[in-house]
Amino acid sequence: MTIEKQNLRLEGIYPQRQKEFFMQRVKLPAGIISCEQALMVAQLAERFARGVAHLTTRGSIELHWLTEGDLAVVASQLAAVGLYNRGACGGAVRGVVCGSLGAAGAPALEALVRKMHRHFTGNPRFEKLPKKFKIGVEADASSGRHLIQDLGLLPAPSQDGRRRYDVFAAGGLGREPIPGFLLAEGVLEDSLLPLIETVLRLYEALTPAGKRLKHLVREIGREEFRRRVLEDQAVLEELPTVPSLTASLVPAPSAEADRLEAHVFGGELSGAGLAALAGIAREFCGGILMVTGDQNVVLHAAGEGAAERARQAMAQAGFAGKAVGERVIFRACPGNHECIMGLAPTRDIAASVLKEMGEAARELSWAISGCSNCCAQPQLAGAGIVASRLVTEVTGRNPRFDLYRAGSAPFAEVVQQGLTLQELLSAVREI
Ligand code: SF4
Repeated sequence: MTIEKQNLRLEGIYPQRQKEFFMQRVKLPAGIISCEQALMVAQLAERFARGVAHLTTRGSIELHWLTEGDLAVVASQLAAVGLYNRGACGGAVRGVVCGSLGAAGAPALEALVRKMHRHFTGNPRFEKLPKKFKIGVEADASSGRHLIQDLGLLPAPSQDGRRRYDVFAAGGLGREPIPGFLLAEGVLEDSLLPLIETVLRLYEALTPAGKRLKHLVREIGREEFRRRVLEDQAVLEELPTVPSLTASLVPAPSAEADRLEAHVFGGELSGAGLAALAGIAREFCGGILMVTGDQNVVLHAAGEGAAERARQAMAQAGFAGKAVGERVIFRACPGNHECIMGLAPTRDIAASVLKEMGEAARELSWAISGCSNCCAQPQLAGAGIVASRLVTEVTGRNPRFDLYRAGSAPFAEVVQQGLTLQELLSAVREI
């Protein structure tokens, strides 16, 4: 391995909590992965990553437990099936997410996301940003996910038949959650790339290293930021989309019953499970799988009777959706199981919460993050848990938890702080 350690980040590689191991993030546009690619990831998970592929809330896949010697072979095997992870970590435009696959207008959104992903992945102009830069496209405002991106896009009404988007800017979670604000209304799809490039140039020029776009906007103010973006002549450029034979990869579901979802508790999917889903996708679902923002896998059945046969095959592969853990939405980041920043074992705590709640857990969506970076997006869940600090006690350094509940604000808010694990479990019982 000859790459400098800091440059590994640009290749989607982070050191793991366990010092001799690394994580490789696989960057997927709109969470879309072909069955051939998924099979390769499954094989790599079995061979190098202790048999697990971790699905993230941004529609990526992470392979943990790689040794330094594994990195080059894993990267080249991924590249052999067209999976390039440039910019999956570090100061670059991260994988562009599309939270709305399967919704009305999804093929257009998916094509837009893949275009943006192609444009920014490996583009050296945008690989030295102060910090990560996140872009997301949603079909509507219902999930609130457009508010947590550096740039979040929502389809806007159009009088002339040309596709337009409202652009929200400078949102983010973490220690200081701030909902994005409406930067520009009804931007032509053909002008989105010039607008995003203008925002990125301003961000790089004016923001200290290690700070997100929300920091710049707080410093100079929304109006000044908007003025600087929209008065830049570059945003007037149009880059018309040329029709393409592969505009949409995802089979359009003709009925709700054609949309199949494999629930993956906390995003921990076994290599064997991923391989089985890849086989089902190849046979019944147009060869395409989608990783969702809830860390699940969605397949769209294509063809007469395909949905029923795919459903049976999923049940045989262990995705029958019978256990509570298979039906509840419970997002979890790796926490201190693997992440260097983690303060608590997120998956174990999620399992304890589910045990406390039983079937009642299904009445809410849940998320747990192992530190205040909030990668599991707890502020967008019905009930969110964040390990916020460690406290030194006679038994060692133990985590304390903050509990969030959704209300009328854009983000769920803290309702109890500094809870021990036992206090947290009592608190969730009372929900
Ligand atoms: S929230 Fe913290 S512990 Fe969890 S993955 Fe993000 S940085 Fe790691």
